Amino acid sequence: MRRLVLVVLLVSACAAASRAFQTTGGAAQPQPTVILLSIDGWRWDYDTRAPAPNLRSLMARGVRAENLIPSFPSKTFPNHYTIVTGLYPGHHGIVANAIKDPATGRLFAMSRTAEVRDPMWWGGEPIWVTAQRAGQSAAAMFWPGSEAPIHGMLPRYWKAYDEDYPPADRVDQVLAWLDLPAERRPTLVTLYFSDVDGAGHRGGPDSSDVRDAIVRVDGYVGRLLRGLERRGLQDAVNLVVVSDHGMANVSRDRVVVLDDYVSLDDDEVVDINPTLGVVPSAGREEPVFRALANAHPRLTVYRRAETPLQWRYRDHPRIPPIVGVMDEGWQIVRRGTAAAVAAGRLRPPGGQHGYDPALMSMRGIFVAAGPAFRTGATVPAFENVQIYNVLAQVLHVTPAANDGGTDVARMLLKQRD
Ligand code: AMP
Ligand code: ZN
Ligand code: ZN
Repeated sequence: MRRLVLVVLLVSACAAASRAFQTTGGAAQPQPTVILLSIDGWRWDYDTRAPAPNLRSLMARGVRAENLIPSFPSKTFPNHYTIVTGLYPGHHGIVANAIKDPATGRLFAMSRTAEVRDPMWWGGEPIWVTAQRAGQSAAAMFWPGSEAPIHGMLPRYWKAYDEDYPPADRVDQVLAWLDLPAERRPTLVTLYFSDVDGAGHRGGPDSSDVRDAIVRVDGYVGRLLRGLERRGLQDAVNLVVVSDHGMANVSRDRVVVLDDYVSLDDDEVVDINPTLGVVPSAGREEPVFRALANAHPRLTVYRRAETPLQWRYRDHPRIPPIVGVMDEGWQIVRRGTAAAVAAGRLRPPGGQHGYDPALMSMRGIFVAAGPAFRTGATVPAFENVQIYNVLAQVLHVTPAANDGGTDVARMLLKQRD
């Protein structure tokens, strides 16, 4: 009898949750909801490398791209912020994981919380601001940019980044946000896992480390799917799974020590490996450029105004005057780093990213399932600047100006009548 009461209670609570979910403040307006999940460093082919039944079930139920083309540089912060703004890094200003702002002389790094929280770094308009400007609420279970009041606005719910925050708790927090009463429930929720990227750096993309991480992270996706099912929300919520970049194999015999070729004591190396960002001291631009251009056949360097056009990486004043990138699988380090590896104080990585987005090894994933998306389709690869407009359309909000178009949304979304 007690069990029957419990079942009845559970079923009616579930029905109430799913009913409330469809309406805003009592109005009979459907309120589309998006969970945007990033699996850092999940290369486009990882679902074939180890069992990933939960991600596979999403692919079967929804739509996937053959792969997702990152923006240059194929690093974490620039690409996460591109995904939520629709702007290339060369347009939104998070031009690398490590940045110097020439106007203020300030340095940005992922670990510098005061900088990460300062809106001066973050150009453009992230989707959570777009959604909240339209009267909706957003929540971030981690996302680069979500800790800064951009245009004076933080996501209504957000968390300080903590890489030790247990993944199961991250999932449960997302589900708890969806349990809030309609007037406080977020319509856009971000979620982030770093395991696969960490394993890729440690062991390289072909390692058992990566295979274990694939299985583990797929388990987190499973926890999320079961949580949605328990709430009767599996067909009400749009789940968009992305990654910021892929991963390439590196090895100790493909490492260039910058200081062996060029003396940069008077200049600033703002960003390194496998990209290079150099700010030469006054008057040294040409000699430094020439020295770097002749340094090593596996290093390609550009003047800021001459980087490949398709990178759209020329305009922003934070792009260093000299930009370099290594060939796939090659690394470039300072002498100190090489010495630390040689002395056994630093473990050399097995995988790296940051290379040209055209390389297949740098491609990520895009999988989306839910009421807004087509089912059972695979579409050709597209650039990650296209995602912002798709999210805006699913949320029924007007996108801010951005670098994306409308074709990808047309490919991915069910036609609305
Ligand atoms: P990357 O060096 O490009 O591989 O960056 C991956 C690292 O970024 C991971 O070690 C994460 O812990 C870190 N990371 C990811 N998201 C954030 C965030 N929102 N705030 C600070 N660090 C982050
Ligand atoms: Zn990353
Ligand atoms: Zn990484």
